[in-house]
Amino acid sequence: MRIGKYELVALNTGTFGLDGGAMFGIIPKPLWEKKIPADEMNRITLGGRCLLLKSEDKTILVDTGIGNYWDEKFKKIYRVEFETASLKSSLENYGVKSDEITDVILTHLHFDHTGGSVDFIDDKAVPAFPNAKYHVQKKHFEWAKSASPKDRGSFIQNRFIPLFEEGIINFHDGDAEFDENINLIATNGHTVDQQLVKISDGNQTLLYCADFLPTSAHVPIPYVMSYDLLPLQTIKEKEKILPQAVEEEWFLFFEHDPKTAAAKISMNEKGFFVKETFEDLI
Ligand SMILES: [Zn+2]
Repeated sequence: MRIGKYELVALNTGTFGLDGGAMFGIIPKPLWEKKIPADEMNRITLGGRCLLLKSEDKTILVDTGIGNYWDEKFKKIYRVEFETASLKSSLENYGVKSDEITDVILTHLHFDHTGGSVDFIDDKAVPAFPNAKYHVQKKHFEWAKSASPKDRGSFIQNRFIPLFEEGIINFHDGDAEFDENINLIATNGHTVDQQLVKISDGNQTLLYCADFLPTSAHVPIPYVMSYDLLPLQTIKEKEKILPQAVEEEWFLFFEHDPKTAAAKISMNEKGFFVKETFEDLI
């Protein structure tokens, strides 16, 4: 897919599993399990779908997946699997070397979005993309350093503090124009200043939804995760953003959907619904 000066590529970076009940908040299991079935421990399979944006002068990565440096206990709890792909194998498939990445936009710093941002050499974390600037929201970074008891477990400090210590984080403060085709949109329902990435040329638009809409099953308004810090804020943000997505026929890109890379949505008297799905960007 091409939008403006960018070629867009969806990158699979492995899968993991989270509790289906937590992923769907107040929605009863008989409804959500029709969309994504649970395993014997009630976990649903989630993708780690990152986005590569290539132009003549930039090679941008949006989020870095869960990453590979986890112990057996962690991998078992979260059923982390790299059977189909990893960030490195997907980048290799597209002929992109780590040192060619010019920018990494991190939507937020939860471990499943920033895990691939660092490599470990002799137990020391170093930037996985040595020539890249990492783009992070300032207020989110401050929050991530000392989060609340509710969400502290989602921030693994050595996946992002080393980037700060290297001086390679470019901080943004709220909504920001990244360039003529890319805008960062700050949202506050899931966590403090999660930045969504909107790629547009005025004709076609794709929104990288991150954990605003983790899967295509989360399009209906009440389908909000228990992980969100402010579920009512998420609902307000859905009510603001989704009508525009319908009106302008945006592609909504899902980082965690196990099958669907992107979808177009519509609405009727019952609310928003998925009208067309895409397993890859074409
Ligand atoms: Zn996530």
